Amino acid sequence: MICPVCKTVALQNEDLLQNLVAKSCKQCHGRWIPSYQYWQWLDKHGDILPEKPKEEAISLPVEDTGAGKLCPECGHFLTHRKVGHSMDFSLDRCSNCGGIWFDRNEWEVLLSRNLHDEVHFVFSSPWQKQVREEENTQIYESRIEKILGPEDYGKLKDMATWIKSHPNKSTIVSYILDSKV
Ligand SMILES: [Zn+2]
Ligand SMILES: [Zn+2]
Repeated sequence: MICPVCKTVALQNEDLLQNLVAKSCKQCHGRWIPSYQYWQWLDKHGDILPEKPKEEAISLPVEDTGAGKLCPECGHFLTHRKVGHSMDFSLDRCSNCGGIWFDRNEWEVLLSRNLHDEVHFVFSSPWQKQVREEENTQIYESRIEKILGPEDYGKLKDMATWIKSHPNKSTIVSYILDSKV
């Protein structure tokens, strides 16, 4: 099996986790997990682990090699989809055989967020819908920050967090809207 990024380097077996063997490239450090390997491992893995917050993500450089790769197993084009959840990279999956390609450090980052056992969901419509909603929220937030400037935007965010978690939030909101001060 040849690396879909380097195109000349043979992939070699690598024990990723207990019961999970990947095919790894020594040159670009990408990894291929064949579909049957992934599902066999997931079957023994038990319940899906709760997602960890973005602050707990391991700090490693991810080199997303982009779309357009071919499946190292069956030669079909790989589907390229954003992971979202505050991670700025995409994964590639073969829509024919179901194998998944991880560029350098993508697996490690997913593992640190406990999302390594949910990669099969990344390619589903509900997950991708959530990714688009996240992107829209980010666009909206950066627009507000641009209007207010970073300092006032920071104050607004703090205030919003405080109000939303306050037991009397409706009183506070009414006061802000109606106050003559
Ligand atoms: Zn490679
Ligand atoms: Zn394939």
